[in-house]
Amino acid sequence: SYTYKIKPRSVIFLSIGQIQHEGEIKYMDYQRLANLLFPDITTTPADIEAMYPPRSLPEGAKVTRIAPSPTGFMHLGNLFSAIVSERLAHQSGGVFFLRIEDTDLKRAVEGGVETIIRVFNHYGLNFDEGATIEGDKGAYGPYRQRQRAKIYQTFAKVLVEQGLAYPCFCTEEELNEMRQQQQEMKINFGYYGQWAKCRDLTFEQIEENIQAGKPYVLRFRSPGDPNKRFVHRDLVKGDIELPENDQDIVLLKSDGIPTYHFAHVIDDHFMGTTHVVRGEEWLATLNIHLQLFRTLGWKPPKYVHTAQLMKMDGGSKRKLSKRKDPELALDFYNAEGYPVPSVLEYLMTLLNSNFEDWRIANPTAPIDDFQFTTKKMGNSGSLFDIDKLKDVSKNTISVMSADEVYNEVTGWAKDYDQQLYTLLTGDEQKAKAIFAIGRGGAKPRKDIAIWSEVKDYLAFFYDELYVPAAAYPENVAKEDAIAILTQYKGIYSPADDGDTWFNKVRELGETLGFAAKPKDYKKNPDQFKGHVGDVSQVIRLAITGRTNSPDLCSVMQILGEATCQQRLDEAIATLSK
Ligand code: GLU
Repeated sequence: SYTYKIKPRSVIFLSIGQIQHEGEIKYMDYQRLANLLFPDITTTPADIEAMYPPRSLPEGAKVTRIAPSPTGFMHLGNLFSAIVSERLAHQSGGVFFLRIEDTDLKRAVEGGVETIIRVFNHYGLNFDEGATIEGDKGAYGPYRQRQRAKIYQTFAKVLVEQGLAYPCFCTEEELNEMRQQQQEMKINFGYYGQWAKCRDLTFEQIEENIQAGKPYVLRFRSPGDPNKRFVHRDLVKGDIELPENDQDIVLLKSDGIPTYHFAHVIDDHFMGTTHVVRGEEWLATLNIHLQLFRTLGWKPPKYVHTAQLMKMDGGSKRKLSKRKDPELALDFYNAEGYPVPSVLEYLMTLLNSNFEDWRIANPTAPIDDFQFTTKKMGNSGSLFDIDKLKDVSKNTISVMSADEVYNEVTGWAKDYDQQLYTLLTGDEQKAKAIFAIGRGGAKPRKDIAIWSEVKDYLAFFYDELYVPAAAYPENVAKEDAIAILTQYKGIYSPADDGDTWFNKVRELGETLGFAAKPKDYKKNPDQFKGHVGDVSQVIRLAITGRTNSPDLCSVMQILGEATCQQRLDEAIATLSK
């Protein structure tokens, strides 16, 4: 016999309780019922408490977790909450852990846990404790809910002993029928009040059902009154008023595995979670969670309910949807080659309203230097804008070194573009020289947003990908274009630096009747065929096949003399046809 006490505030149940049944009062021996339902559970709450001593952490240290289900589908919301959890823990010298919520076998997939771990590793979110590929690490495990069945059942048994939980044998059909009736009567759905048929079963009826092998779930006997409301303080939503819960929710499913509600309360209590960060879809059942914490006599954690990710669709805002929006899946960002720092940077702009100002003031500081706070989190839907993410990414990539870009791109291409991978790694020096163009200065080029754009960006550097120009500028006569290219062939030298290169092009243009400066041409358009920009554009088209390229002198140095001469020849031949 143990002395563990569950302290419901609103209702006091005794271990021998009264049940109103068919008009007469019957007495139920709850202890006997508990033993009937849980003959194998001999652990007591005190045993479990002893297994999970309070954490010894510095004052103010936060303990947070993410608790995904291994469904194989990882979405932006997972990452969104994970960033908040990680920051709260690590900024305060606390603990950030990973718990696997695998109670729903129907949704679990093979390899789902590995996917979760791999994705969070990819985003550089480091767990102090929890599930890892090699198994669990940390003193507050196991961190996979299926392995914690005995812990949940210990408390389920105690609730039965206290008259606070009971077995329910209602079948799917009975529950559907009930729902239909409730719909017709236009009243709340669910298992509550007089709808909670199995509340009043006698011990004998229960025993008979169990002996007959009828499956059952274990339900909470809710003492709540939905007409009563209470105020809860959420760290994002602020003070919110919630009705008391009156649903006799399921604590254990028919296989003895808990529902989310019960598992959340027990796990976050014993694992010492101080802040639960989760999507705001959980607000609807928060009253259940708070009720369970109170019933079990435990202090609830603080809650941080993150706003839904929304997008603009035809002028109105809507929730990102798994079916309609590929960008909801984290795999999308891997496949498209969004650099990790870009995604983190963008999500932080959505999470904390003062982040962008901080970034402007601290353009090169590591993102973790930013003081993240729940106070700056928006409490209504966050507008996710993929174009904005791309802009952020252009900035992020523009301040990377050529070596970093090379490593990132080849890392991506290895998995997603074998041809690009082979080209880049086949001549590392060349690839790094390409990525070095326009980088490192005060105003770096901002031309790459995602790694899947790189192939097109550098295609003309590789004969395998190069596509010659289909057309030349209309404002330059064909004979002039041919003359530009023919004469340029004679004067071009791969040793030319930027200034020499440009002077040659300008002088060449002048001899052919093109103005040395655009503004000279604008002043007297009748005196010139065009200006130096038109001349270099013809050369650019011949060399790169494009009207747009990074610094052409650098491009030609990387391509080398033989390739440049060959492309000039080919262009002349094409133009002369
Ligand atoms: N398993 C829940 C989910 O994936 C976790 C919610 C929570 O963090 O408590 O949504």
